[in-house]
Order: sequence, then structure tokens, then C-alpha cells
Amino acid sequence: MAKGNKILVSSISELHKKQKQAKKSKSGGFESLGLSSNVFRGVKRKGYKVPTPIQRKTMPIILSGSDVVAMARTGSGKTAAFLVPMLEKLHQHVPQAGVRALILSPTRDLAIQTLKFTKELGRFTDLRVSLLVGGDSMESQFEELAQNPDVIIATPGRLMHHLAEVDDMSLRSVEYVVFDEADCLFSMGFAEQLHKILTQLSENRQTLLFSATLPSALAEFAKAGLRDPQLVRLDLETKISPDLKLAFFTLRVEEKYAVLLYLIKELISSDQQTLIFVSTKYHVEFLNVLFREEGIEPSICYGDMDQDARKIHISKFRARKTVLLIVTDVAARGIDIPLLDNVVNFDFPPKPKLFVHRVGRAARAGRTGTAFSLVTYEDMPFLLDLHLFLSKPIRAAPTEEEVLQDMDGVMSEINQAVANGETVYGRIPQTVIDLHSDRVREIIDSSSDLTAYADTLFKGFSPVFKDKTKTIKGVYSKSKRLTP
Ligand code: AMP
Repeated sequence: MAKGNKILVSSISELHKKQKQAKKSKSGGFESLGLSSNVFRGVKRKGYKVPTPIQRKTMPIILSGSDVVAMARTGSGKTAAFLVPMLEKLHQHVPQAGVRALILSPTRDLAIQTLKFTKELGRFTDLRVSLLVGGDSMESQFEELAQNPDVIIATPGRLMHHLAEVDDMSLRSVEYVVFDEADCLFSMGFAEQLHKILTQLSENRQTLLFSATLPSALAEFAKAGLRDPQLVRLDLETKISPDLKLAFFTLRVEEKYAVLLYLIKELISSDQQTLIFVSTKYHVEFLNVLFREEGIEPSICYGDMDQDARKIHISKFRARKTVLLIVTDVAARGIDIPLLDNVVNFDFPPKPKLFVHRVGRAARAGRTGTAFSLVTYEDMPFLLDLHLFLSKPIRAAPTEEEVLQDMDGVMSEINQAVANGETVYGRIPQTVIDLHSDRVREIIDSSSDLTAYADTLFKGFSPVFKDKTKTIKGVYSKSKRLTP
């Protein structure tokens, strides 16, 4: 349908929205929270200038003392949303007071990351923090607990272990409890342990629950553990940042590597960071070698990757030593990816919510960003579904011939479309694709590693493809219903 089209992407109306948003955020900045200078300095030192939407909504409520159930996912700034008010409330170390804040995390990795944020944001306070997670020795954790921590960050299993081992360990003094990624906490079978932990807590505590979704079991739990909670939801799942530009490139499956190479090497500026989503770990590995052969060292991350290797890759990306991070969806859930410039959907997400989730780290906190998506013929129904979901009109860009025939007319038409909030999709000129296809073929032919990966990759392809075909049928019938 878009054969021969030239690409151009939306943005003028979004610029106006951005300006409006910038004005709004000034009035609700960190300054307006009345934080004490030690906490405020920590926030500034961490580099946060403007609160993210979830921070703007939750922090005043938490500071006022209410219980909160907040729907927020990783990448929304949720960690600081509960850490900043916590630091403000605890204020300073009190030797005899016992543990005053407890943060429960579903995984060791998340707990470690929360500890890091706590230390960074609380660097100008003298508060003491202990980490209780599996994998570290109980003895060293006993020693830490003997130092009278003000805050404990724990996974439920290891916390229960301590409560069972140490007779005089008490959570009665806890005033501030956070259930982070509560949906994961419950779905991972911690519910029983969590209920036990709850019985050990004093009734006069403040309870906060952060969750990406609000499953029914969680609603039940919320009733039991929370006092008159305020529900904060931003409906982020259906919203993308107004500052995010969307670019959709139609192509044939076999052109994907060439187009990706073109995007990274020529379209995206080399100092910008880009997150690339692919469907399997074989694609991650393949692209890893391909980019290395091109002299670009990427960071990579997939589900069952070795923990140490994963850490090294992510920290290189965080330190901006690498500009590319290639991930699968599963792997991306568990890691702290900084706010960045670009997201590339190398494999198009089969569900609109997944698209929104993937692009969520770009164009946040007052920055702009672009989501580039490669769209094959098979992905077209998903593209349609996405636009129904986002309620954004979409139109095909003009063909190269049309542009040549009536440059001015075509450009004013595109500008009009963009001003109406429409997204334009189209094809990269064939000559550009051909040039990069030749280069990809050359690299593969000269690398035995790549030839070997290509075999595995082919195996990795088929189940994904089958899955997609199933969903395609679903989308077609849905689209039919939605079309008047
Ligand atoms: P989180 O959702 O807590 O995992 O945070 C995602 C990323 O956003 C982390 O790298 C945070 O350091 C960063 N972040 C959180 N709040 C802000 C803010 N107000 N301004 C800029 N970056 C932020």
C-alpha cells in the first residue's frame, strides 16, 4: 500500500503540547513540595529537574500522610516517587527508634537498584539503609541489622527468614511501608509471606503500593492492608508522551537489517542513545555481532543472560559508553533503563500496550524523543490496531513520484496532516535500502560467527512468526468490528 513512499514524520502540534506542558510543570516542580534542604539537594544532585507525572501526582499525597495505591511501571520514575517522601519523613538517623521504613521488592535486582537510588537521593542525610536479599550471606546481614538501620529494603523471602531466625527482630516501629511492583510480588507467590509480614507491622503505618497493573487479587489485598487509600493512575498504558515523535517505515522482512543499519549509522545522530527491541535472544546475539563487525559496540540484554554479563552491559549503557542497547521484551522489564533519545521496534510489537510500554522511556521529563518502527506486510494489522488504540489518525506519505511532480503541494499537505496530529508512514527510498542491504550481505559473508548465528536465528524465527499469525487473525476481526 505504501510502495515507493517517502517518509516524513509528525510533530508540529506536539510541539505546542510540549510548550504547554513545560509551563504546567513549573508550577508543580520539586520546589513546590517544600522539601527540606538535604532531601532537595539529593534530588538536584541526582539530576532530576522536573518531576515525572507519577511523581507530581503521588508525592504531595504521600507527604500528606495518606496511603496510596499508584499504578506506575518501571521507567515512570516511580522509585523516586516513594523514596523522596520517605527521606523527607525519616529526616535523619534516630539510633533508638528501630526500623522506620520498609521497602519490599519482588526481585533481588530491583531491591539492589532501589538501594542505589536510596543512597544517591539520600546522600545528604545520615539515614542508614540495609539490604536484605537472597544470595548474600545471612551473617553480613545480621551485622548490618545491628547498626540500627532506619530503612530496610528486602525481598519477602529473605525478610521472613530473618524474622524467623532473630527472636528480637521487630517490624513494630515501621511507619512507612512500600510494596514495589506489587503485581509481581503477588503473582510470584509471595502473597502468604506478605500477609505474615503485614501482621507484624503496626497499624499506625503509612502503606504505599506501586504496581504496573491492578489485578483483582491486588485490589482485595489493598482493601485488607491499606487505610482509605488514594488511587493514583495516569492511564499511562494508553498514553504515549506528547513529546514523542513516531516514525513508521514499511519494508520487506529481508530488508530489516539494512534499514536498521541505515537508521543507526545515518539517520540517528551518533551521540544519541537508542534502545532496540527484538523478538528473541537470537536476534539480540545476531545484531550484537553485526554491529561489532561495523565497529559499533552495543550493549545487549536478554532473559536468561548471565547476571554478571548483563550488569556489565547495562552499566556501560547507563554510563553512555555504549549508545545502543539491544533487548528482548522480557529482559527489558527487569532493568533500569535510563531516559533516552530513541526507541527502535526492530520487531513490531503485536499488542498496542506493548508498544506504549516499549517507547515509555523516550521523550520523558521534558526531553524529546523518537520511536522508529519497522513495519512489514505482516505487521500492518498491528499498525492499524495501534492507531485505533492511540486514537491517532495515520496516513501514507506521498510517493517519490508525487513529491517530484508537485513538491510544494505535497509538502503543504504533509504539514497539514502533521498539524492535525496525524502520523505519516512510508518507505525509505529503495536506493538507500539496496546500498545497506549490500553492506549487510558483505558483513555476513565475511563473518563465520554471523553465518552460524543466521542458522539459529532461522530456528528462532518460526515460533514467533506462528504466534504473530495467530494474533493477526484476532486483530483482523477486531479491526472489522471497529471499522464503521
Ligand atoms: P524508575 O521508574 O523509578 O525505574 O525510574 C526510571 C528512570 O527515570 C531512572 O533512571 C530514574 O533515575 C529516572 N528518573 C526518575 N525521576 C526522574 C526525574 N524527575 N527526572 C529525570 N529522570 C528521572
